[in-house]
Amino acid sequence: MSDLLDKIVSLSKRRGFIFQSSEIYGGLAATYDYGPLGVELKHNVRERWWQAMVYQHDNIEGLDAAILMHPTVWKASGHVDAFNDPLIDDKASKMRYRADQLIEGYIEKLRKKGKEDEADRVYQRLVEALHADDMPKALHQIIMDEEIRSPDSGAFDWTEVRQFNLMFETYIGPLAETDNRIYLRPETAQGIFVNFHNVAQSARQQVPFGIAQIGKAFRNEIVARQFIFRMREFEQMEMQYFVRPGDQMDAYEAWREKRRQWHLDNGVREEKIGWHTHEKLAHYADAAVDIQYEFPWGWQEVEGIHSRTDYDLGRHQEFSGKKMEYFDPQTQERYLPFVVETSVGLDRTILMLLCDAYREEEVEGEKRTVLKFHPKIAPIKAAVFPLVKKEGMPEIAEVITADLRGRFNAFYDEKGSVGKRYRRMDEAGTPFCITVDGQTLEDGTVTVRDRDTLEQIRIDKANVARFLEDKIA
Ligand code: ATP
Repeated sequence: MSDLLDKIVSLSKRRGFIFQSSEIYGGLAATYDYGPLGVELKHNVRERWWQAMVYQHDNIEGLDAAILMHPTVWKASGHVDAFNDPLIDDKASKMRYRADQLIEGYIEKLRKKGKEDEADRVYQRLVEALHADDMPKALHQIIMDEEIRSPDSGAFDWTEVRQFNLMFETYIGPLAETDNRIYLRPETAQGIFVNFHNVAQSARQQVPFGIAQIGKAFRNEIVARQFIFRMREFEQMEMQYFVRPGDQMDAYEAWREKRRQWHLDNGVREEKIGWHTHEKLAHYADAAVDIQYEFPWGWQEVEGIHSRTDYDLGRHQEFSGKKMEYFDPQTQERYLPFVVETSVGLDRTILMLLCDAYREEEVEGEKRTVLKFHPKIAPIKAAVFPLVKKEGMPEIAEVITADLRGRFNAFYDEKGSVGKRYRRMDEAGTPFCITVDGQTLEDGTVTVRDRDTLEQIRIDKANVARFLEDKIA
């Protein structure tokens, strides 16, 4: 793990953003709990996504489908047969890897050493292997031929590559029998497809229109490392946009741009956002691209934009025996709509925002750690401090806090020196701190400190709320 990620993990725990799940029992791998600051951050990001997708588009509707679905849904979607990752074990260390990622890591290493031709050659083999009929065998062959060693133990002592289904299974009702087997959903999208007609009819939407949903998804990931980057229980924010066959490429291009802009609007630095076009398209897709972020350990996917053709509705039509076709009143045609989807991980977005906001700076000879969150996503928007716990300052500060709390999340703190209180708020990513001091008692003004510029200005205490609202907007 990189140094920066270590620091973020430790700050997250110390300040109450994110904790290991079931920590007192030794933790449960790849599951995490969000603490008081984390839950606010998550809430704000969720809100912003909903705002950008649902409220800002007349033709996008919201949905909240159940996590448990009829098991045939996952046969129709292909997840029962094909939601597999190729895994390989290092016999020496007992560490488990995804075979394709192991090879990608090796290619990356070759590039770092300047061996571009070698890297290109192995990359070409990887692309071919991912398309091979016997993909596990083809991946295994590459690892053997290139003598790829285990990144952790350095050993060259591998098992075969096996396919591993990522869905969590459970049973409905009292009997643990095959007939009662159901799955925790591995993505939210299928809840949208099966509700296509329900939403279209009840909301009186006509193609093109979209359905948006935020919810938990579960994947029994083989290798779950890098903190909340790859979890076994996580949250997705997905939107499926239904278009007339033939219109999908225009929609795909438009959503690519809109989704990239959303990340920039959340304050993510532009040079850290990139694209990755898929080498291996899913068999049903006709275009797919990832929005990537440069995490401390390299460029990784944050969001996928996929043009999925009419595959999903077609499969549900086939498996349910119900017509999923749409009658277009404008063209008088009947067709299965094509789908362009945008799918972003909420937790992965949170990790990106933490990585992007984290800074260590020197201020007046002292080190400070600060999270430079965009004010719109910051867990606490403003903190209010009385300079000292006497002379009526706490009372004034409490009145200001109460006023702010009616508008956004504000925090009152009277403990410790003002310097310490500022540092605590820097670590929480709070953009503004208001201090009630001696001068407030004389002329009714307070100081407002800007987290990033450290500039302090005085404004009338009656104007604090309006001033901050303008700043946050
Ligand atoms: P990866 O290649 O990283 O496994 P994926 O291509 O399987 O991801 P999708 O199925 O397209 O991912 O899911 C859409 C989004 O959901 C991803 O871009 C990511 O942000 C998020 N996501 C997927 N799997 C996880 C996970 N295990 N933990 C956290 N977020 C995830």
